[in-house]
Amino acid sequence: MRAATLLNRLLDLPGIRVEGVSLPGEGRLVLDVALRRRGLTCPLCGWRTRNRYDTRQSPSWWRHLDFGTAVVVVRAELRRLDCPHHGVVVEGVPFARHRSGFTRDFEDVTAFLTTKTDKTTIARFLRVDWDTVGRICERVVADSLDADRLDGLVNIGVDEISWRKHHNYLTLVTNHTSGKIVWGKTGKDTATMDAFFDELGADRSGRIEAVSMDMGPAFAKSVRTEGHAPQAVVCIDPFHAVKLVGEALDVERRKAWNELRQAGNPDAAKKFKGARWALLKNPTNLTDEQATTLRKLKRRGGDVWRAYTLKEAFREIFAGDLTTDQVAELIDRWISRASRSRLAAFVKAAKTIRKHRDGLLAAIRLNINNGRAEGLNNVVRLIIRRARGFHTAEAALALVMLTCGPITLQLPREQSP
Ligand SMILES: [Zn+2]
Repeated sequence: MRAATLLNRLLDLPGIRVEGVSLPGEGRLVLDVALRRRGLTCPLCGWRTRNRYDTRQSPSWWRHLDFGTAVVVVRAELRRLDCPHHGVVVEGVPFARHRSGFTRDFEDVTAFLTTKTDKTTIARFLRVDWDTVGRICERVVADSLDADRLDGLVNIGVDEISWRKHHNYLTLVTNHTSGKIVWGKTGKDTATMDAFFDELGADRSGRIEAVSMDMGPAFAKSVRTEGHAPQAVVCIDPFHAVKLVGEALDVERRKAWNELRQAGNPDAAKKFKGARWALLKNPTNLTDEQATTLRKLKRRGGDVWRAYTLKEAFREIFAGDLTTDQVAELIDRWISRASRSRLAAFVKAAKTIRKHRDGLLAAIRLNINNGRAEGLNNVVRLIIRRARGFHTAEAALALVMLTCGPITLQLPREQSP
């Protein structure tokens, strides 16, 4: 069997015929290929014609999956066509996405790996730089997102996440029923959420029954706008409230630490600084060392210990399967305890919780699954950390959608022909 025929079968790229193989050195295997079809296809709309506009002066090339240790390059001479919608464009090829320097197979493998492992591993293993990986993610998402993802939304959640040192934000919308992120955009203000409703349209927006969110005013304002989803119940995800109370505890801890330091007690101050995680973590997740620290803090008593018991009491309200009435009673009791605590951060937190009491209770009543929302939030945080190396928010968003969106990623050999 001739080498070209053999490679044809082995590489299994759709719609091409390998016409020549060369090894120009430096571990590169170059395959000159010709398209099987005579007709030309617009890469943007799929419009077909038999008429070529012209042939490009220089051949196009794409990186394909490695062969052994060699980098494989597919090279082809492409023609241009005059599409009635898009003007003169280079013809589309069946084995690569529009404007990509990689084959579809290579991109699918890259996208799959980015959802599974870290930046250094991928860049070294695939021999591509990280920004290129970001652009690949964008193309794969644009190509494989479920087109029906915005249909039939009933209970949704909206959340913002910062990426790149808290200056850039992404707003993400989750379908609570499927547990998938169905929409995302850069920004975190009312206008960002408005863009979601614009895309959703009045009909689908009108069928939304509940929207869960954090305690900021921006998203709620957009939801209540006429033509968006004013009929929907606004719910507050309890984990946001628990986080707020945790932050109040941290304020009290820092205050105690500063007071000890200024009082000339650096050893005690140092211990306080190290107590951060012992105080903030769920007590069942403490290491032995942290548990010891916590026992010492308990013996010491004082403001920090009172702040800790308040934080734990609040967390426990949402930890179990209490009825809405029981939760309401416990929230009210907590608000009154925190308001009288004389701990400034807790007095302030109690005010915020009081303001959002109805939203918190709505989340319990409508059974918006808090654990699931928090779990998804944690996955997104992990992915965002990986996406920090990307230069654009669009690439970061693409990585979030690849991992948590309605997409089934398949490796080349898993795809049906
Ligand atoms: Zn076209």
